Amino acid sequence: MATLLPDTLSATAAELADASTATISCEAACQLLRTGDDKLPALLASAQRARTRFKPGVITYSRKVFLPLTNLCRDYCGYCIFRHDAGEPGAHTMTPDEVMEVVRAGERMGCTEALFSLGDKPELLFPQMRETLRHLGYKSTLHYLEAMCEKVLRESTLLPHPNPGLMSAEWLERLSRVAPSMGLMLETTSTRLLAKGAAHDNAPDKEPAKRLRVIEDAGRQSIPFTTGILIGIGETLEERVDALVAIRDLHARYGHIQEVIVQNFRAKSGTPMTHWPEPDRGEMLRTLAVARLLMPEMNIQVPPNLSDPHYADLLDGGINDWGGVSPLTPDFINPEKPWPHLEQLQQRTEAKGFELRQRLPVYPEFVDRAAAHSDLLAQCLGSVADAAGYARRAA
Ligand code: SF4
Repeated sequence: MATLLPDTLSATAAELADASTATISCEAACQLLRTGDDKLPALLASAQRARTRFKPGVITYSRKVFLPLTNLCRDYCGYCIFRHDAGEPGAHTMTPDEVMEVVRAGERMGCTEALFSLGDKPELLFPQMRETLRHLGYKSTLHYLEAMCEKVLRESTLLPHPNPGLMSAEWLERLSRVAPSMGLMLETTSTRLLAKGAAHDNAPDKEPAKRLRVIEDAGRQSIPFTTGILIGIGETLEERVDALVAIRDLHARYGHIQEVIVQNFRAKSGTPMTHWPEPDRGEMLRTLAVARLLMPEMNIQVPPNLSDPHYADLLDGGINDWGGVSPLTPDFINPEKPWPHLEQLQQRTEAKGFELRQRLPVYPEFVDRAAAHSDLLAQCLGSVADAAGYARRAA
């Protein structure tokens, strides 16, 4: 790919507008993240033109149910309200019956994704979790997750998308037979954030090298993979670009990253980062535009509920997906930020000139790659995907 090295920010935006396959250098990306308000419209226009070249006219989302299989976690991220210690009020591991009750309710509402979000390896820290797993009949949280993914596949029309934290290559392979896609947020490549008092202090599973290793292992196995960055947790702008470039480069090598989430930090009361400043709209738009220009031919997603009520403005940054939105279950990671009603999401997306289309947890262009992992997946995907790879029950 060609690389553009702009002399000035104003030149950059104009040049990028006509660069059909070009990406930008790290230096240019860092410069663009500092674009002044006067030049912001030109930057956004460049990002929008890049999106149009990639996927014109359509914004996608996945209609999902959110299954917090367990909210016990051995990590202590400074911004997290989801995690619990064993025995703490609210700590909970779902039973198989609870999982299937939510899945069946989601089926009735036209959902096609069962998003399993859970804490990372809680049994390593909590004897109570080991006891829960023993009672359920599983050796580890990942064994339990695998069984629940298979149960959902066999007993419903939903497709699982697990986010269990770090996984070995062996576990990636096992889960890839019962889930068409899976995810692990890179969040950041900054090792500074592991230091005392920083966002990932006491979060051993957030070591960037370990997360990059998982994403690369998924690439070696051709697993459709979701990852992304979390912005505003103490990283520098250079580190933010470094994380985006790391994702882009892994995708260039393996072609397996189906979407890149750009998530904005939101401060939650009761967490160590409750008074930490949140990225504002301008910072989000600059980051989205830079992500689009760095990755002109990759799916870029923003969770709308974290920018409510002005989330539709984020379309101006060149994104092409709203991620998973649930008509049924809350966002357990951000419980104070409800998802928009699907009718409103559709109206606001259309008001910006786009068609809103329901996709599966695996993106259309990755369906064949997912189906190659098991006969069971091929069969399930064949019954829920339309000819173009979107959800058959389109919104
Ligand atoms: S963000 Fe994830 S890994 Fe970190 S504490 Fe919360 S559940 Fe655990």
